[in-house]
Amino acid sequence: VAKQSGSSRFKVYDESCQQNFARRLYIESELRYALERGQFTLFYQPQFDLRLNRVVGVEALIRWQHPEMGFVPPMEFIPIAEQMELIHAIGYWVAEEAISQAARWHRQGVQLRMGINLSARQFSDERLADKLGRMLKKAGLPTEYLDVEITESVAMESPERVLQLLAKLQEQGVKVAIDDFGTGYSSLEYLQKFDVEFIKIDQAFVRNLLGNKADQGIVKAVLGIAESLEMRVIAEGVESAEELELLRALGCDEIQGYYISRPLPPAEIEPIIEGYNQDEDSPV
Ligand code: C2E
Ligand code: MG
Ligand code: MG
Ligand code: MG
Repeated sequence: VAKQSGSSRFKVYDESCQQNFARRLYIESELRYALERGQFTLFYQPQFDLRLNRVVGVEALIRWQHPEMGFVPPMEFIPIAEQMELIHAIGYWVAEEAISQAARWHRQGVQLRMGINLSARQFSDERLADKLGRMLKKAGLPTEYLDVEITESVAMESPERVLQLLAKLQEQGVKVAIDDFGTGYSSLEYLQKFDVEFIKIDQAFVRNLLGNKADQGIVKAVLGIAESLEMRVIAEGVESAEELELLRALGCDEIQGYYISRPLPPAEIEPIIEGYNQDEDSPV
């Protein structure tokens, strides 16, 4: 191992810091044009019902393909889009695109629930519920096929405002899922108040499910709470048959993860969903 002087180490640190900063600035400047330049697409990941052995829904996940940077992960650009207030335009694009896709599938006889992710900032837009309602109507998708995913931390940031907006959506028939459940700090009191249709157990608890008694305990506890609150549980990040079987044995309602399928563009996800849903003895 080469001996490194303190100053050169600092230099390396400095450079990578500058690179990060430069990338951030570049993302900020390019993000403004990404929508009009058609650089966003949606990928869809199946949600598999463990009792029906069928794909019953999909989650829409945004993808940004940039000519210079290549694929930029949503975890990197969504927080920046939030700070720049671009999240409203991007969020409405996602909603419109996902709802049209779900409506298209409906017309083809493939009735899937469509899940979209909502960011914290989108809740400051009081017209959110009306706009989503109008999009559903225009596309001709029955409202109960849309479900909006909000993370626990978003819900708890301004619970009263979020509660009001969610109630407006739910009045129209739209369903709500608490995403990444277990990683935030929502109180059980709020979980009851929120009265959502779905709880999505974060993949952090699924990752070590087989070997880790503590994680198994947490999953069991969430399933118990969900049952008494009459909510359905979707486990995220399921990557193996063993995890699927354990979750089924524990009474989990639905799973999502690479084991069923990675998120894919519509044309590629269609045959996969068909494969699961057509024959009586499903491959899983
Ligand atoms: P999320 O909503 O919790 O989405 C699940 C993430 O887990 C996705 O990452 C998905 O590709 C990944 N995943 C699914 N199954 C597995 C698995 O078996 N193993 C592993 N290791 N990962 C799995 P992705 O697409 O990179 O999205 C990351 C996050 O970015 C999402 O987390 C969500 O918070 C946010 N996001 C994505 N699309 C949108 C969007 O349209 N709007 C907003 N506001 N946020 C979005
Ligand atoms: Mg989600
Ligand atoms: Mg999640
Ligand atoms: Mg997540």
